[in-house]
Amino acid sequence: MGDCIFCKIANGEMDTDLVYEDEKVVAFKDINPQAPVHLLIVPRKHIPTLLDLEKSDEELIGHIYKIASKLAREEGIADRGFRVVSNCNEEGGQTVFHIHFHLLGGRNLQWPPG
Ligand code: IMP
Repeated sequence: MGDCIFCKIANGEMDTDLVYEDEKVVAFKDINPQAPVHLLIVPRKHIPTLLDLEKSDEELIGHIYKIASKLAREEGIADRGFRVVSNCNEEGGQTVFHIHFHLLGGRNLQWPPG
């Protein structure tokens, strides 16, 4: 946890422009955007992967999806469509081991993803 980059962002130890924050989550622009809108929604609690979720985290995950919808509306991508993605472990494409939810939109997203 000590050198977790998303813990540092959530704790205000890194200079990052937050687009949203509350007592449970923070959201900010991805440093390497894959779409015109690409935000990361990150719980303040350090949870390494989706596999580490506990029963008590169920409300947190529901909250994150509510925030994703709110931010999609605010970013103007709700009507045309958007995607919320969470990668798990290396073959799933996870590079930061503190769970996070990518909110992507503003272009025609392809399926399946690469
Ligand atoms: P993952 O590959 O699904 O784990 O997503 C990690 C995401 O974090 C990638 O899309 C990175 O571009 C993004 N990222 C890594 N470091 C930073 C940062 O310091 N600020 C914002 N985004 C970051």
